[in-house]
Amino acid sequence: MTGFPVIRRTHLEILQVNLGYRCNQRCIHCHVNAGPERTEMMDRATIDQVIAFLASSNLRQLDLTGGAPEMNPHFRHLIRSARVMGLHVIDRCNLTVLEEPGMEGLEEFFADQRVEIIASLPCYLKENVDHQRGNGVFEASLRALRKLNQLGYGRKDSGLSLNLVYNPLGPFLPPLQTLLEEDYRKELGERYGIVFNQLYTITNMPIHRFETLLTSIGKRLIYMKLLQGAHQEGNLESVMCRRLISVDYQGYVYDCDFNQALGLPLQMEGRSRVHLSELMEIDLKENPIPLLEHCYGCTAGQGSSCTGVLN
Ligand code: SF4
Ligand code: SF4
Repeated sequence: MTGFPVIRRTHLEILQVNLGYRCNQRCIHCHVNAGPERTEMMDRATIDQVIAFLASSNLRQLDLTGGAPEMNPHFRHLIRSARVMGLHVIDRCNLTVLEEPGMEGLEEFFADQRVEIIASLPCYLKENVDHQRGNGVFEASLRALRKLNQLGYGRKDSGLSLNLVYNPLGPFLPPLQTLLEEDYRKELGERYGIVFNQLYTITNMPIHRFETLLTSIGKRLIYMKLLQGAHQEGNLESVMCRRLISVDYQGYVYDCDFNQALGLPLQMEGRSRVHLSELMEIDLKENPIPLLEHCYGCTAGQGSSCTGVLN
């Protein structure tokens, strides 16, 4: 392919770190094939390289993902170190992990460190959530959300941000983010007394587990055409790969989490892949970005990024 327009990097603002592929869930749309059986985890030496990189940069944001990033034994150390440097820290949380052994006191730790929580909740209906994410996930998610609300998360003026993520349950684009946010606020508020700050709609990427699902129901090509047909040139300006780098559990660098999942590394002349420790004080502005057909998942319709729509 692909006919996808060439884009280049602008100034680096965000370091997104994948702390490993282990997860207590095994969702049918997961683009990193995470699950309880995965053993890949960022070790302490690589965590310390991440901290050294942050210390040498003037980045404003650290975005932690996985798998379930909380399952990494060095998770709290990394957050404490980043917060001491004044970085804004985001934890991409699946909510149910907060009930796993060893996670005791994690909600209080988040509140204490002023960590922003971006939590997956693909619907306000139990059947839909359990279908996509596993039996019992909806009820466990509600328990976690209630606990976070009790600590002030999602409440106006508390300074503790709790943002939810919707992704479609099938091969279609998300509805309008603003309208769906109103529905979520009403339904979660009235049914369960839960509050949150913002809803982010994210398009499912046609890679790994979701691609397998599409193929199994004979809809891969239809979905690809849907994404390509809905491409909006105006979204190219703000796709996240222009100002973010994504680091894998071994410290190697990619232009985004999706390219990481596909093994498409950050490009640097004469190199097959680049380690974060080699990027100290290197300006990536104007670096080319490897783009394949999955990139239409970012530019279709309202656009999609790790923080919802682009336009
Ligand atoms: S989508 Fe998130 S919660 Fe689900 S298996 Fe993947 S990493 Fe885990
Ligand atoms: S998939 Fe990654 S590389 Fe492609 S447009 Fe989206 S953010 Fe950029």
